[in-house]
Amino acid sequence: MKNILLQPGKQSVDVIIIGAGPAGSVAAAYLLEQGLRVKIFEKSQFPRFSIGESLLPQTMEILEQVNLLQPIVEAGFQHKNGAIFRWQEEHVEFDFRNKFSPGWGVTYQVQRDKFDSILANQVEKKGAEVTYQATVKYVEYIDDGIRLEWHDNDGNVHTETAQFILDASGFGRVLPKLLDLEIPSSLPFRQSLFTHVIDQIPLATFDRNKIIITVHPHDCQTWMWLIPFSDGSLSLGAVATPTFYQQFDGLSLDQTLERIFHADTHLANLLKGARYKYPVKQIAGYSSSVNSYYGDRYALLGNAGEFLDPVFSSGVTIAFKSAQLACDVLKRQFAGETVCWQQQFVEPLLGGINTFRAFVDAWYEGTLLPILCYPNKDPEVTAMICSVLAGYAWDKRNPVVQDSQKFIRLISELCQ
Ligand SMILES: Cc1cc2nc3c(=O)[nH]c(=O)nc-3n(C[C@H](O)[C@H](O)[C@H](O)COP(=O)(O)OP(=O)(O)OC[C@H]3O[C@@H](n4cnc5c(N)ncnc54)[C@H](O)[C@@H]3O)c2cc1C
Repeated sequence: MKNILLQPGKQSVDVIIIGAGPAGSVAAAYLLEQGLRVKIFEKSQFPRFSIGESLLPQTMEILEQVNLLQPIVEAGFQHKNGAIFRWQEEHVEFDFRNKFSPGWGVTYQVQRDKFDSILANQVEKKGAEVTYQATVKYVEYIDDGIRLEWHDNDGNVHTETAQFILDASGFGRVLPKLLDLEIPSSLPFRQSLFTHVIDQIPLATFDRNKIIITVHPHDCQTWMWLIPFSDGSLSLGAVATPTFYQQFDGLSLDQTLERIFHADTHLANLLKGARYKYPVKQIAGYSSSVNSYYGDRYALLGNAGEFLDPVFSSGVTIAFKSAQLACDVLKRQFAGETVCWQQQFVEPLLGGINTFRAFVDAWYEGTLLPILCYPNKDPEVTAMICSVLAGYAWDKRNPVVQDSQKFIRLISELCQ
């Protein structure tokens, strides 16, 4: 692909961002720090619900880098310092502060309506123009730029031109759909049910600083999450294949989720007396991929590029990392440097995504859990695994990151 000369000031804005989720806001913050003019078009009106509430410590580093950390620290979100994995009678706790990689070992469990609004409001204050209820429907190349068409809620059609578009539209996947970039994910079709509950769990018996991931007692492909919030509520959800859900045909989504959680005695006890805050929602077939993460005058961020699976809470971390990497390349391109999107954006991004991918594959193949739960692991190996679970999937000093598949295979043999 030829290296296009990007010129600040050439169009009415320098960069258009589609979507004001985590990837969009963090990208805007990076670009504004470089003095570029940024417009965000967001389909919904904020605050709006979004799934993806358990952050990883790696996100803190990126928020700090773009001066977005302080408002998040001040928002009163639930602290998070690790994760608990439960499997039959066994359980293992990972404390992210005991990780191999340097950097943050703590983070937050966040209600995304509030989290995403804080980030979007902050970048608006910093100078980004954010238009809500603006659905992007069409893009086309023009001389020296790219034009985008968006629709407001009354059906009126508007256009905007820019030098470059960052697609951060999440599961909306605007450019992958318009430019025919979508390809099937390597991961199979799965479905998730989730809600928030007001819980009655006594503080003395429960560590709200950790999320709990529990494998279903009767089906090792099915798992449940429990993410405590600071206001006495919890996010809970289940992930399974459509075949697993067939046994609940005829039941409502509320009843189905209740049955799934009640199959596990520990979870059933924890959730005694809990009340749903709203009816159970569902999302299905969310794993996705693309045949290219960039092209002339555009790049894909976060879920608009690739989404793997929720089991290791990697979504927001990958969204942030993609924004960081893409904006670094954009900065150079706007400065007139010759850039290579493949080498400077895609390859580094995929480095970390593929580490998570190896963990997700091994989780569903059943090889990872015995490693996580193995009681006599070398503390150094535990720290290396902990680093990936904390989101440091791009730290090449970590042998697990250097070759995740090989590492998992080797440790798996040793644990047997
Ligand atoms: C069941 C489940 C559980 C998950 N749990 C976690 C978790 O615990 N931790 C974690 O880190 N991740 C989790 N994730 C993943 C997480 O939700 C996403 O990875 C993350 O939100 C991606 O951020 P994003 O900015 O790319 O997209 P999004 O957060 O989806 O933001 C995209 C924005 O684009 C807007 N948009 C869409 N189409 C258009 C359009 N045409 N025009 C304008 N705007 C548009 C949307 O309204 C939205 O606001 C989970 C995912 C699933 C499916």
